[in-house]
Amino acid sequence: MLKGQISVRDGIEDFLCPFTDMYITQGSNSAYSHKGIMANDVRGKEPGVRYPYYAPCTCKCLKTYPQSGQVMWQSVNKVRFSNGRVDYATFMTCHDDTMDAKIGMVVPQGNQLGNMGTKGNATGVHCHIEVSQSADTSWTKNQYGNYHFNNEYDLDDCYFVDNTNVLNGMGGNWRTTDKVPVNPTPTPAGADQVLYKGSKVKFNGVFKVDILKSPISSNLFGCCQLTGCSYNDYYNEKVKSYHWLPCQPFTECDVNGNLTKDQMLSGGNSYVKNDNIYTVEDIDVKSNSAKLNISGRSVWVFSKYLYEISNN
Ligand SMILES: [Zn+2]
Repeated sequence: MLKGQISVRDGIEDFLCPFTDMYITQGSNSAYSHKGIMANDVRGKEPGVRYPYYAPCTCKCLKTYPQSGQVMWQSVNKVRFSNGRVDYATFMTCHDDTMDAKIGMVVPQGNQLGNMGTKGNATGVHCHIEVSQSADTSWTKNQYGNYHFNNEYDLDDCYFVDNTNVLNGMGGNWRTTDKVPVNPTPTPAGADQVLYKGSKVKFNGVFKVDILKSPISSNLFGCCQLTGCSYNDYYNEKVKSYHWLPCQPFTECDVNGNLTKDQMLSGGNSYVKNDNIYTVEDIDVKSNSAKLNISGRSVWVFSKYLYEISNN
């Protein structure tokens, strides 16, 4: 990843590779210090340079181990890993000589997390990283004396390498986000609630009749909530003709939507509802409004008060 890079799909952050150039000097489950653990040692483009690395997701510092420049981080929310799993990420970074992480500090995705280094007996400048795909913070020694998390995954199953130059990937199956498509959140059959020309909609809710247009025989009313016009603009006839709604297809009700007996609308007192189905004739994205034809009259109302019932 690059400095400042973020990646969010369907409301979930993709867990990105924290390095811009990734040269793995020691892979997972290899000899000595990585035996039995899913850790990578990573240096940058040139050996010996303390390159920065970045927050793979928005994460919080849970623990620090200053002697080894080591920090335990956890994602603030669940994230998406490169194997498609969505879960919390708990991960360790080590050997940052200039470590300035403090417990409780939250680092947004893409902001600098630390620098590669040598603190804590490291051979050559690098960042040691291991990732648990869970919120489990247990940090225990295995039979070979190496510390690790539960639910650790190999790093190619953890991070996406968008904008990472994989200089030495040790043969891993490194994936970019486009290789792991996101299934959109299921929506009710035939209604995605994204209005467009042709959408079939109903009014959602109960609306106040703020004013009746004069003369009463015009059978039109103004509704500030549905149109965004002010009472004064209605009163002074400063609104457009499409801001007046025809009374006829609306039924009078109380504020809870129960029908009233007299069905006589009065400005400033009555509430109305409308259970008819209308077809969206046009959309104005800027004002988030939809044009409907109500009883032969074109009106514009805010889309948020319409409920899509079908796409066709
Ligand atoms: Zn290591």
